[in-house]
Amino acid sequence: MSARVIINIGELTTNDPSLGDGSVMGRLTNAAIVTDNDHVVWVGPSNDAPAADEVVDVEGAAVIPGFVDSHTHLVFAGSRSDEFAARMAGERYDGGGIMRTVRATREASDEELVRATRERFNELRLSGVTTVEIKSGYDLTAPGELRLLKIARAFSEEITLLGAHVVPAGVDRDACIESVCNEMMPAAVGLAKWVDVFCDQGAYSVDEARAILTKAQELGFGLRLHGNQLGHTGGVALAVEMNCASVDHCTYLTAEDVALLAASNTVATLLPGAEFSTRSPYPDAKSLLQAGVVLALATDCNPGTSYVTNMPLMIALAVREMGMTPDEALFAATVGGAKALRRSDVGHLGIGAKADVVVLNGATSLDLAYRLGSNVVAHVL
Ligand SMILES: [Zn+2]
Repeated sequence: MSARVIINIGELTTNDPSLGDGSVMGRLTNAAIVTDNDHVVWVGPSNDAPAADEVVDVEGAAVIPGFVDSHTHLVFAGSRSDEFAARMAGERYDGGGIMRTVRATREASDEELVRATRERFNELRLSGVTTVEIKSGYDLTAPGELRLLKIARAFSEEITLLGAHVVPAGVDRDACIESVCNEMMPAAVGLAKWVDVFCDQGAYSVDEARAILTKAQELGFGLRLHGNQLGHTGGVALAVEMNCASVDHCTYLTAEDVALLAASNTVATLLPGAEFSTRSPYPDAKSLLQAGVVLALATDCNPGTSYVTNMPLMIALAVREMGMTPDEALFAATVGGAKALRRSDVGHLGIGAKADVVVLNGATSLDLAYRLGSNVVAHVL
């Protein structure tokens, strides 16, 4: 006997081309899905669904795989709403506000940080996110970064050390890099899965980022990179060179960057919440897709440049502002995110996948992009 059968799914998106209509979205209508011990064990027509201990009738609603939010900075204290207001009044984002969050985070107790992280985590969950990557990066001292990683670890296995976020004013750059490589990283082994570097104007240079990522690789971490958010700063080429799982932002790309990405195993993770919140140009997702680059969509939830916990809104922005079709955006927010984390068990509802099932309020996944800002996600099963 199986644990649970979900019947009367009006439109089921599995993202498994071996199921349903044979498209990349693996779509079925009038479908059912059976899950057992947290995994998908059967997918097919609702009328043929096998018996199970528990029957959930979704009455014609659309069902999709849970979103994989592969880029967040959930663990922080304080607000920078005033900075947002100033930016909307015409100031340009230069990354300088990060130190404000660092100061607030250093001052916050463990309890305050856990509570704030849990609130944001729950908001993501309500928007349909079932896998979330969480970065440290708002303390920048070795013991402090370790504290943030431990707090993050209570919420996810996809934990990233971002000790190389920015160089604090008045601190020696080389001493910072030394601390990241020889204090933070060795202590983070077994706690963090990934190491990320903010490689951009006002943060770390390509050569500095390469040194940090090389050390991270030696210690067995997976690699990620914030790149090309603020200009043509060489981050994308470095991410490809270092075989990073993902290079994130990709707002400013040359034709050469696009060609490098297309020929690589590095996912380009696009974060339209950041462009929206900093009133910056959006990356050209259409060109990336045409070149064959694998795209992910993520929230980049952080207090400075993208305080958003809503993945459907990222899909809507990707469609409206970045030239993606609704299906391309949904795929990037699920399979794309999984690839950015080098996971094959999430982001789809094929046989054997994790049973991360999201039921929508409407009959079609098009509502994710169409019903801007509405509560499109009914529940997460
Ligand atoms: Zn980020």
